[in-house]
Amino acid sequence: MRTIIEPFKIKVVEPIRMTTREEREKILLAAHYNPFLIHAKDVLIDLLTDSGTAAMSSKQWAGVMDGDESYAGSKSFYRFERVVKELTGFHSIIPTHQGRAAEKILFHIAIRTNGSAQQIIPNNTHFDTTRANIEYVGAKAIDLPIEEGKKPSLRRPFKGNMDLEKLENLIREEGASKIPLIMVTITNNSNGGQPVSMENLKGARDIAHRHKIPFFLDAARFAENAYFIKLREAGYENKSVEAIAQEIFRLADGCTMSAKKDGLANMGGFLGLNDRHWAQKARALLILTEGFPTYGGLSGRDLEALAQGFKEVLEEDYLRYRIRSIEYFGEKILALGVPIVEPPGGHAIYMDAKAFLPHIPPLEYPGQALVNELYLVAGIRAVEIGSVMFGKVDPKTGQEKSAEMELVRLAFPRRVYTQSHVDYLVEAMEEVVKHKKKLRGFRMVAQEPSLRHFTAHFEPL
Ligand SMILES: *Cc1c(COP(=O)(O)O)cnc(C)c1O
Repeated sequence: MRTIIEPFKIKVVEPIRMTTREEREKILLAAHYNPFLIHAKDVLIDLLTDSGTAAMSSKQWAGVMDGDESYAGSKSFYRFERVVKELTGFHSIIPTHQGRAAEKILFHIAIRTNGSAQQIIPNNTHFDTTRANIEYVGAKAIDLPIEEGKKPSLRRPFKGNMDLEKLENLIREEGASKIPLIMVTITNNSNGGQPVSMENLKGARDIAHRHKIPFFLDAARFAENAYFIKLREAGYENKSVEAIAQEIFRLADGCTMSAKKDGLANMGGFLGLNDRHWAQKARALLILTEGFPTYGGLSGRDLEALAQGFKEVLEEDYLRYRIRSIEYFGEKILALGVPIVEPPGGHAIYMDAKAFLPHIPPLEYPGQALVNELYLVAGIRAVEIGSVMFGKVDPKTGQEKSAEMELVRLAFPRRVYTQSHVDYLVEAMEEVVKHKKKLRGFRMVAQEPSLRHFTAHFEPL
């Protein structure tokens, strides 16, 4: 059979409230044309993020009922710890409420802040909270993506890779003593959800270890990355995704994990460490800000849901359905003439609004125009990743500088939407394509000094 079906039946449903175009016009006006300010109940298909939005399985919900909420020594922790140790092989597993809490603890331990020169943490591309946590303790976050990764329409199998030559040069120029750890993010979220090859991971690990620098993973989408390795890297086609994931983790000395992605749960994370001395320090900090080491920032029921989620996410029928439905959507809208970041990544499609709406200049926010149109036409919520998010206003001149790219991201929650939802998305894009010349830009009329995209107000031009 050619058709890839959703490898699940639906046992519980959450109704979607249908809206009309007239209603959506009013809703947009009330939200000041900012999708972050739209109430979720007014959204038909919500592609704002894939983080914490997964549908849990019946076994996960059974685990929720079975959660042991004991303060110390909960059986749910031991189940979680066993599953995560089997997967990662790390000596110490420290549960946190989400990924950024693990980052905060790791960088507090790893980065020396007294005296000496400014410390540096290289990554293929840092995720925003990772960068912010590094900068918060006074260190510098450096991105070293490969050049191919920066070209949106170029089709390459592993555009998430780190540029290993640049990594070598950085270590040679700065000295290994300034680099407390090297990190690689799988998949490369900030670079389109593109995967990293095993060869590249091994290369980065070899360089790190040759210089006696610990090698870490930001592993939020480890299962999607492992599946891409199976599909695209020679020598892995006959290995199970689980075996590939295990091989990836065993290259590293530790990891940070946001389990809100490939944990298939709504909340959770952990810090994995092999160094016992670091683990001891991490647990001391954990108690200060998250909780006792057998629950961290989580409830026993969350730990149960995660233990089960980390197993289910490696099922190949699930990954085939997930990766294929996103690729299918990407292919369909490419055929409609909508430029996207190619090839489609693991968790999202990124549309190139600058190329799609060339008549709207960057500082009139073509991405915001497209996001608003998608909501108006079909009740779809996407997010602008362009000058609204990354544009900078010079405080002296008041002049605004646009971002490098004007993208719109459609991120897919895990196991939430079906094929007919995806076909509906394609139809909506067909509508948008038909009258795209009529779309107008926006003016930002209110903004906060930092992270302005969450709360900014707009007016149509
Ligand atoms: C989401 C994410 C994080 C941060 O995790 P939270 O659970 O949102 O705190 C870190 N790194 C990557 C790659 C992510 O996608």
